[in-house]
Parts: sequence; structure tokens; C-alpha cells
Amino acid sequence: MMYDYLIVGAGLYGAVFAQQAKKAGKSVLVIDKRPNIAGNVYTEEVEGINVHKYGAHIFHTNNKKVWDYITKFAEFNRFTNSPVANYKGELYSLPFNMYTFNKMWGVVTPEEAAAKIEEQRKEITGEPKNLEEQAISLVGRDIYEKLIKGYTEKQWGRDCKELPAFIIKRLPVRLTFDNNYFNALYQGIPVGGYTQMVANMLEGIEVRLDTDYFADKAGFDAMAEKVVYTGPIDAYFNFSLGTLEYRSVRFENELLDKPNFQGNAAVNYTDRETPWTRIIEHKWFEFGKDKNGNDLPKTVISREYSSEWKPGDEPYYPVNDEKNGALYAEYKKLAEKEKNIIFGGRLGEYKYYDMDAVIAAALDKAEEEL
Ligand code: FAD
Ligand code: UDP
Repeated sequence: MMYDYLIVGAGLYGAVFAQQAKKAGKSVLVIDKRPNIAGNVYTEEVEGINVHKYGAHIFHTNNKKVWDYITKFAEFNRFTNSPVANYKGELYSLPFNMYTFNKMWGVVTPEEAAAKIEEQRKEITGEPKNLEEQAISLVGRDIYEKLIKGYTEKQWGRDCKELPAFIIKRLPVRLTFDNNYFNALYQGIPVGGYTQMVANMLEGIEVRLDTDYFADKAGFDAMAEKVVYTGPIDAYFNFSLGTLEYRSVRFENELLDKPNFQGNAAVNYTDRETPWTRIIEHKWFEFGKDKNGNDLPKTVISREYSSEWKPGDEPYYPVNDEKNGALYAEYKKLAEKEKNIIFGGRLGEYKYYDMDAVIAAALDKAEEEL
């Protein structure tokens, strides 16, 4: 055998596992079918701006072990995610907090805001049965109508009455003036971009890009004692039990010859009529500066359009409903019967992991294995 481990996928899961294996003295080969490393966190420099090619990524975690690990490979800036909602030209602060309530109702004190929410949530009696009821019971009908309904229906392609309540529960509701979108102890963007961070993790490790595992699975398997597979689990089994579903996103990128398009990294378009869900202006993840600290004259924006996934599209969000959960459970049984292979990451485990959870999972697996 030429290698101890063949790692399929140069995304975060693969990179963490490869780094840990090399550190433990193992020989490792990493392959990826894309022309670049870093998987979905890949950033590409355009006019001095690190553009998040597969969607905006903001690192946030409460896990000190993960933070101590990842900061060995990049320094993180002090970016704090504070998206703005645009409802037909009216701007609101997110997540839902005193700035939002003041703009919506003119209320000034937390007591006044709480009273307003209390009055509006009365229409929901009993346990909320779906996302609409859950949203109204959290923040009232006005906010539901202007900031939640349209956005959610565009994002998921389904009516709010047909979506599970839990989706909306992850957004904070605060009676304080605090626009920080995440309740996380550690948050930021890696200075120099995510691609550089992953390149640092993979330093000294052999990586072959534009290389599809399935183009010669038997040949690759014969090269290593063990395989770590981070691609879609259903693809590994040749879709023999059927295809798992995903939501996909289409990004329309534009380079503009002006320094400032929207004044913020993320603006959500929360009405139903605007076809995109949000616009990302990438330079604001790094405060509009290039790597030498100079102001950037141009800007790159990405409009995001949410769509139902079909074969050939990039699979972005696993659809964690009952039907897909049951099918995944069947694939997992097949996976458990395979010898010398580890299924890991967002696609390998069909799980909507944030970056910190993927890193934690890969570190745990490496600890158990190596
Ligand atoms: P991936 O990054 O998908 O890597 C898997 C790799 O395997 C890919 O590079 C793929 O090309 C390769 N591969 C697949 N099949 C094969 C094959 N047959 N042969 C060779 N290679 C193969 N998380 C956050 O914490 N904060 C955020 O703000 C955030 N925003 C997000 C926004 C969007 C639009 C999306 C989709 C996700 C976001 N995430 C965010 C989640 C984050 O992207 C994931 O947690 C993380 O990237 C998963 O890493 P991974 O290694 O499991 O998967
Ligand atoms: N959401 C919303 N309005 C917004 C932002 C989010 O209604 O302006 C809802 C929407 O249903 C979304 C959920 O809150 O699916 C969770 O939002 P989050 O930003 O956490 O979603 P992500 O894209 O990170 O999965």
C-alpha cells in the first residue's frame, strides 16, 4: 500500500482529518474532483477581495477546542455578522432586537416592545404547529409578515404553514440593542481567506485536484489502507436506494466599479416579490480593506437564488425531513457494512453541519482512529 489514508474531499472535514493523520505520522493522499481545495468554504481573490464562491461563510463557535485548533492555521478578524433586512425599501436590523422593534413599532423601552409582542402573539393558542405559528408566537404578526414570511418561502420553496417550527427557533430574539446574529463566544473571518487557511492545514500533504474518486474507485482503494469519504453518501452506493434531496443555491456574481454598494456584508430581501433571497457584498467581511490595509476601489456582490436541487446541481443544504431522514438511515446501514472506510462531513453524513461542528466531528474521528 502506498498510503495509510486516502481522503476523498479537500473540504474542512477532509483537511482536518488529513492534518491530524499526518501529524500522527501517517501517509496521506487527498483527492478532490473540484479544481480547488477548501470545498464549500473556498474563497477566490478578485480585485483584492476574497470572494466566498460557494456562499458566505462566517465562522462562529462556542467550542473552545475547535477555536484553539482552527486559529493555528489562520488569524481571525473581528467581523460580527449583523445582517440588514430590506422589506420593500424599509430597512430593519437583524436578528430581532430593540433596533428592529423600535423601527417596526416606534417603541422605545424593552417593556413597550415586550407588551407589543405579547399583544400580537395572543392569536396563537396552544403549541405552535408550524413555522408560521412559531414565528408569530415569538415576535408577533407584523414582524412575521414583513421579515419572515417572504424570505422563508423563497428560501425553502414551501409555504410557512408547511414548514417545521424548529427552523425559526435558531434565530435570537432579544430585548436589548444587540445586532450580533450569533450567540457565539468566538466569531470572525480568517485573515487572508478560507482557502489560505485550508492550504495551511494541508501543508506538506499530497493533494490531487480535478480527480474524481469514482473515475477509478478500485484503483484508488488499492492505493490506501483506509478511505475517508466526504462526498454524498448516496453517490457512494451508486444511488441504489434512491436519491437524497437537497436545496441548492444559485449565485449571480457581479464586479462593480464603485467602492460601496450596500454598506454591509449581508442584506436580506424579505419580501416575496424580489426573486433573490439576499445580496452579499464580500469586501465588508474584511472591512473594505485589501491585505495591506488599503481601501478597495471596487466591490463584488453576489445575489443568492434558492432552488430545489436536481441531479447535476451542487448539493448545498440536506433536507432534513422525515422522508430523507429515513432514506439516509438505510444508506447508513449499508455504510456500516463497508470495511476500511469512514464516511464524514456534511455530505457523507447528510447533516446540516456548521463549520465548527464539521471540525469537531473530524477531530473526534481522528482521535478515535489514530
Ligand atoms: P464540503 O465542503 O462540501 O467538502 C466535500 C468535498 O468533497 C468537496 O470539495 C467535493 O468536491 C468533494 N467530493 C465530493 N465527491 C467527490 C468525489 N467523488 N471525488 C472527489 N471529491 C469529491 N457554516 C458556518 O459555520 N457558517 C456559515 O456562515 C456557513 N454558511 C454556509 C452557506 C452556504 C450557502 C452553505 C451551503 C453552507 C454554509 N455553512 C456555513 C456550512 C459549511 O459550508 C460546512 O459546514 C462545511 O463546508 C462542510 O465541510 P465538508 O468538508 O463536510 O464538506
Ligand atoms: N429567516 C427569516 N428572515 C430573515 C432571516 C432568516 O425569516 O431575514 C428565517 C428563515 O426561515 C431561515 C431561518 O430563519 O430559514 C434560519 O435562518 P438562518 O440565517 O439561520 O439560515 P441559514 O441560511 O444560516 O441556514
